[in-house]
Amino acid sequence: MKEVILVKYGEMALKGLNKKTFEDMLTKNIKRRIKGLGHFVCTSAQSTLYIDPQDDDIDLSEVVDRVGKIFGIAALCRAGVCEKDFGDITEKSVEYLSDILSCARTFKVNAKRSDKAFPMKSPEICRELGGILLDKFPNLSVDVNNPEVIVTVEVRDTNAYIHAENIKGAGGLPVGSSGKAMLLLSGGIDSPVAGWMMAKRGVHIAAIHYVSPPYTSDRAQLKVEQLCEKLTDWCGGIAFYCVPFTELQEAIKDHCPEEFFTIIMRRLMMEIAQRIAAKDGCLALITGESVGQVASQTMAAIACTDAVCRIPVFRPCVGMDKTEIIEIARKIDTFDISTLPYEDCCTVFTPRHPKVRPQLSDIEKAQNSFDFEPLIQKAVENTELKTFNYEG
Ligand code: ATP
Ligand code: MG
Repeated sequence: MKEVILVKYGEMALKGLNKKTFEDMLTKNIKRRIKGLGHFVCTSAQSTLYIDPQDDDIDLSEVVDRVGKIFGIAALCRAGVCEKDFGDITEKSVEYLSDILSCARTFKVNAKRSDKAFPMKSPEICRELGGILLDKFPNLSVDVNNPEVIVTVEVRDTNAYIHAENIKGAGGLPVGSSGKAMLLLSGGIDSPVAGWMMAKRGVHIAAIHYVSPPYTSDRAQLKVEQLCEKLTDWCGGIAFYCVPFTELQEAIKDHCPEEFFTIIMRRLMMEIAQRIAAKDGCLALITGESVGQVASQTMAAIACTDAVCRIPVFRPCVGMDKTEIIEIARKIDTFDISTLPYEDCCTVFTPRHPKVRPQLSDIEKAQNSFDFEPLIQKAVENTELKTFNYEG
């Protein structure tokens, strides 16, 4: 039996005049994501997007799996396609839904008739189809308040559709609809989660990572690239910038007081990130910081870091506990990669007693005692770019 996937828009259904732009963006993201699985025709009508597979051998559960990770979708389902004829609708419902209906105890029928020319009204469709299903499946009884299975019949423009399983979508807004931002991506647990959270709000992510060879190994960089690859499932294509940071870190160590190492390092990271962000059209930076998590994430330390930033810095994990961040990391499947052993440049030259309440004036004075500008420029020039795209 012919099946399609119906996709229901999320929040963007509320966007009024911009709705068309959001819809187009979502359609483009979906097409890109499932391209490798076969040929599809995607059309939208009445706040629903139809994914119509054109080949017989397409793995629809893989399609559902992939589309389930695309932001901008409230719900999706596989649906059987029927003629706009009640006889065909009943016959196909019995056949198509037989597995799910023969194991359930209670059900109800829900009908949506957007084609008002269809001769039966919604309550009549529910009543008639409900009666037939009760006859065919003696295990079933009707429960309108809390049914195990809701059989939905949608009578639309060209066809009717039947389905019984609504799958929750990833929510949020289509990636790209909110512009682009630069994620400072370490190999830790928090920053991939931060990137995912902003992508959920429609932000297209680019990523920047700082390496300090020989203090950090190739393996550490590979790990971050693996994280990028994993994030593409949700975030789409990611431009990954890898910045050589060793000389800057050595300069900090040679010229600044030890207690300020980390804060100055973070200020230099932000400086480089916003220069590359400007070149790449990114309007903001994103980090995985959370207030109070470590010495460089106290409010005073964050204030010192922010003082060098000329564009907004989004910290979506800022008010979250580590356990809450881990919960998301597991859900998006980055946790196991993030917990592989590695060295981060942040752990190179870590001060024994970092200042938890640094004064901006002290930090600025310390940083101004050395001219970092040539090294910043050199690091930006020698930054390497790799691009990650949806796999498959
Ligand atoms: P994470 O788990 O994301 O590494 P964290 O709790 O370990 O965070 P820090 O190591 O202090 O915190 O880093 C704070 C933030 O700075 C990170 O969330 C990330 O956004 C950024 N960051 C740290 N190290 C790097 C790096 N090597 N490259 C790019 N960004 C980094
Ligand atoms: Mg870290």
